[in-house]
Amino acid sequence: MGLETLANFIDGAFCPPVGGAYFETDDPFTAEAWGLIPRSGAEDVDRAVAAARRAFREGAWPAMTPGQRGAALHRIAEAIAENAEELARIEVRDNGKTYKEMLAQVKRIPDWYRFFGGLADKITGAVLPSDKPGHMNYLTREPLGVIAMVTPWNSPLMLLAWKLAPALAAGNTAVVKPSEFTSASALRFAELVAATGLPSGVLNVVTGLGSEAGAALVGHRDVAKVAFTGGVGGGCSVYSAAAVGLKPVSLELGGKSPNIVFEDADLEMAARGVVAGIFGSGGQSCVAGSRLLVQRGIHDRLVARIVELTGKIRLGDPMSPDTDIGPVATRPQFERIMTCIGWAKEDGAAVATGGSQVPDPSGGRALFVAPTIFTGVRNDMRIAQEEVFGPVLCVIPFDDEAEAVAIANDTRFGLGAGLWTRDVARVHRVAARLEAGTVWVNTYKITSHLSPFGGYKASGLGREGGMEMIGGYLQTKSVWLNLTDEVAYGFPL
Ligand code: NAD
Repeated sequence: MGLETLANFIDGAFCPPVGGAYFETDDPFTAEAWGLIPRSGAEDVDRAVAAARRAFREGAWPAMTPGQRGAALHRIAEAIAENAEELARIEVRDNGKTYKEMLAQVKRIPDWYRFFGGLADKITGAVLPSDKPGHMNYLTREPLGVIAMVTPWNSPLMLLAWKLAPALAAGNTAVVKPSEFTSASALRFAELVAATGLPSGVLNVVTGLGSEAGAALVGHRDVAKVAFTGGVGGGCSVYSAAAVGLKPVSLELGGKSPNIVFEDADLEMAARGVVAGIFGSGGQSCVAGSRLLVQRGIHDRLVARIVELTGKIRLGDPMSPDTDIGPVATRPQFERIMTCIGWAKEDGAAVATGGSQVPDPSGGRALFVAPTIFTGVRNDMRIAQEEVFGPVLCVIPFDDEAEAVAIANDTRFGLGAGLWTRDVARVHRVAARLEAGTVWVNTYKITSHLSPFGGYKASGLGREGGMEMIGGYLQTKSVWLNLTDEVAYGFPL
């Protein structure tokens, strides 16, 4: 069967890459290529940024009232809701996550566009008290311009929404560079958005490799801000490139999140939360609870129960409603997971379950890794310090609260942390001391468009979500008016 050829979406139309280069994209479950993705370069990026810049400065978009912009975001929300099944299927074909997970995720995305659409006409300025007689000073809040949005493969449309919804609500325009592994959903999304009547050039999608299209976009002189989600390595490169151009950035990066279980916790609840926290999405989640910190007195009981629950996880066809974990999304990711498993074994951790590749249960060539639990892990081992981004949990015992907090914080990351206890005072003590952007208590992995999300330390810069975050896509202008007939504060000052 021939491969489908995809095209960039620039200025309201699909167009082939200027250089005519493409790369293949695979379905992780069939392990076969299904499409050709434009391998865009600097010229494609230039065209997209120029279109976004024009749309920012001229035509229908800047002429809209904030209320009309908000209505445009509501139409985008409706388009996603109406096409949720199709968009979820596209995501599954590209990243191999289960259809039930991706459908649930896509169905939540409209919330972001509705919420930020609702804020579009609530962006206000201020009139300040003036210390200059006869003069008035007021503030307006203005959009920044063209926003570069660079996204990863694990939750492509969701993580795009976290950037695009506030950016558009504030009046910016966007050029999106999706992951090279999951380009199709952003392109189909752009087409659906265009059909809602969003003016051409407001949303552009340029596909390609991070080191090519991604780097060209982030370094482009007409990009006003970079919003990036991805790994620490990519994040560092993006931060450096943005610094050269003096561009503000938001970075949503990786994690090595601790899930801390105290002896007084409801053990059954904790066991289920720990298993879902690491093995949901096959561990391919930035907030995966990849370190289980367990108080020594309940160590063996809790480990036995999570091993038992892990044994019930069903691997298989991501489209099947019976499947809990689909295949690993990409071969490089599979190799990364196997390398990390190798480190754990070399460093002396014990395999409680898993620890190896498993054959594709459907008899195909898809890459599956057994949900893996290592015990006897010390926090200074590589498996406890490096993000795996796969189904690998390491179990680290602790004696008391102080030690739990010390181990939890002893990592360069600081994205999420889970806490399982029935002691209310302990909840507040420990939550306050954890170096993490989000702390979950007796639950795990809950996020909302109403609540800011982001990382401490190497897990990122800035937050996404919540009312204030629209401020990340605005700048403040101070306007002084002389209300007299004299230039009292002119030159010399
Ligand atoms: P990645 O860093 O390899 O790629 C992310 C995106 O950045 C891709 O579009 C890629 O092409 C692009 N890119 C890479 N290098 C670039 C460069 N130098 N210049 C410009 N663009 C560049 O990440 P990934 O493998 O796609 O995703 C997995 C990572 O993302 C994990 O570390 C995970 O924890 C993280 N993540 C974080 C969050 C969060 O909200 N904190 C959410 C999801 C994933």
